[in-house]
Amino acid sequence: MLDFATVSAPRRPAAERAALMSDPGFGRVFTDHMVTIRYADGKGWYDARLEPFGPLSLSPATAALHYGQEIFEGLKAYAQPDGGIALFRPDANARRLNATADRMAMPRLPEELFLRALEVLVGADRDWVPTREGQSLYLRPFMIATDPFLGVRPSSEYLFAVIASPAGAYFAGGAKPVTMWVSQEYSRAAPGGTGAVKTAANYAASLRAQAQAQEAGCDQVVFLDAVQRRYIEESGSNNLFFVYDGELVTPPLNGSILPGVTRDSVLRLGAHLGLTVTERPYSLDEWRDDARSGRLKETFATGTGVVISSIGTARTADGGFSIAGAVEGPVTGRIRDQLVGIQRGTVEDPFGWRVPV
Ligand code: PMP
Repeated sequence: MLDFATVSAPRRPAAERAALMSDPGFGRVFTDHMVTIRYADGKGWYDARLEPFGPLSLSPATAALHYGQEIFEGLKAYAQPDGGIALFRPDANARRLNATADRMAMPRLPEELFLRALEVLVGADRDWVPTREGQSLYLRPFMIATDPFLGVRPSSEYLFAVIASPAGAYFAGGAKPVTMWVSQEYSRAAPGGTGAVKTAANYAASLRAQAQAQEAGCDQVVFLDAVQRRYIEESGSNNLFFVYDGELVTPPLNGSILPGVTRDSVLRLGAHLGLTVTERPYSLDEWRDDARSGRLKETFATGTGVVISSIGTARTADGGFSIAGAVEGPVTGRIRDQLVGIQRGTVEDPFGWRVPV
């Protein structure tokens, strides 16, 4: 295992930190440090550092800036009742980063090194882990191609880094049910494409549709499958669940949906709570018809940012529909309470998902 060289950052005064953390929002405030590790073909991973958070110096020819060879992850550290800190399922993010690296022709990062990088950063910036309900420290590991070369080919050198950001509620509306815009114009991912991995281009490609969602007064965009434009895939940054009597339905991992860590957790938690969990194609027509008939009880979105977010209303270019009066239902609430409890250390963790740091 690589040793991390440490260059400590000057600590910001406690009062400044407290002010920044009182209402951090999402992704705007950063902690004092970052971790960086370099890679070169033939040499492997080297030069691991904990250093002050700050600008990277890159050649304007850096490959990642031109062809988007960039991948990332997102996970959270939670303050625990005993004063400790726990990461939620970091091993799952380590595996997904490597699945993404394979798809994007980038080097794998050993899982132990990924975990160690998180531990080193959270250890140095422990004071930045918020303790208030609903808050956490969001961790953003990422890797970029750093060859200063304009040829279109996999880079031979890479930078892996982790930054950290105290986070509050993700959607501006807080816990109230959100409104989704179903894009019938744009797709997020195609068969054989990169939808199942966490790479920058997927998000760039989703921004126009997300802007349309906002123009239509909605919070988030929902994408349909790129071939038939019939089946629900996922939203811009969340997986989706549909609640029937005693059953959770979610679209299957068909190669164009991101395998969310929260999605997997909800499937396992749902089964543990005695619900039937079904992964099957789910169409927009089914969503609309069952919402209108009342057979569909609830719909919710899952992701590291929101954890579980109730969906009250869906809109399309030709109309819209509400799900069960657009109020959060009991299954959504129960799953959120259990999951948040496991993350925050207030309920038992039968799955071993909490990893103390
Ligand atoms: N889908 C997409 C497109 C995402 O970006 C995310 C966020 N990583 C998710 C789903 C949810 O994944 P997770 O539960 O691992 O955060």
